[in-house]
Amino acid sequence: MIRDGDRVAVGLSGGKDSVTLLEALIRLQKKAPIDFSVCAFTVEQGKFLAPIHPFRGYLEQRGIDWTYVQDGPSLRLLEEQPDHGCDLCSRFRRRAVYQIARNLGANVIAFGHTADDFCESFLRNAMFTGRLSALPPVAYSRKRDFRLIRPLLYVTEDLTRAFAERLGAPVIPCGCSQKTGTVRRTLRDIFSELERDHPHLKETLLSAMSKIETGRLLDTRFLDLDGATEEAGFFPDTELVQLGA
Ligand code: SF4
Repeated sequence: MIRDGDRVAVGLSGGKDSVTLLEALIRLQKKAPIDFSVCAFTVEQGKFLAPIHPFRGYLEQRGIDWTYVQDGPSLRLLEEQPDHGCDLCSRFRRRAVYQIARNLGANVIAFGHTADDFCESFLRNAMFTGRLSALPPVAYSRKRDFRLIRPLLYVTEDLTRAFAERLGAPVIPCGCSQKTGTVRRTLRDIFSELERDHPHLKETLLSAMSKIETGRLLDTRFLDLDGATEEAGFFPDTELVQLGA
């Protein structure tokens, strides 16, 4: 994800996850066998529930350059279309993020998405958009001028919560995180309930995302329609059980 000579700009969203990510990268930077630099930025889209300025002192103390930008188009969007959806909001944010990263001379942008986000995204896409996909851990911006990384993909939010608390870092919630009745909230509640009996649920889901059996799904691009590949047996034992045979 991170290479020699990279300049990594960490997107600080005000929450526990991005604070954890920043601290992890600061510590990694000291130990890694390669040289890379780290800076941080925050885009103000008018959704923080409290002033964000406590970050300044905290980041100065951690020796990190922090850029805070009030994004005019996002703030106007909030006034003109207060009920706008995530698609518009994230499109505005993406444009602002690329501009800030460019100004900071960064070639890598790091986001604080966690294992919880990967699992939610996977289920949300499967259930509500009809696609099997989640978040890419490493990707490139459309013009390939930035590498986009999500280093916390195996880190769950119970860990980031505890870690951020131990750091004594300020946590400024986003108004959206408090909303009820959203798909995100519903999925989170389902996870919490299932995890009482299945504590490794997220681990299993992450594992599933890295072991795709394309020949057992419905995408005809990957099906062996002409019998060209060897199949271990069309009805292995597990399948017979599921089929009630
Ligand atoms: S959850 Fe809120 S902040 Fe995030 S993309 Fe949607 S509207 Fe924007």
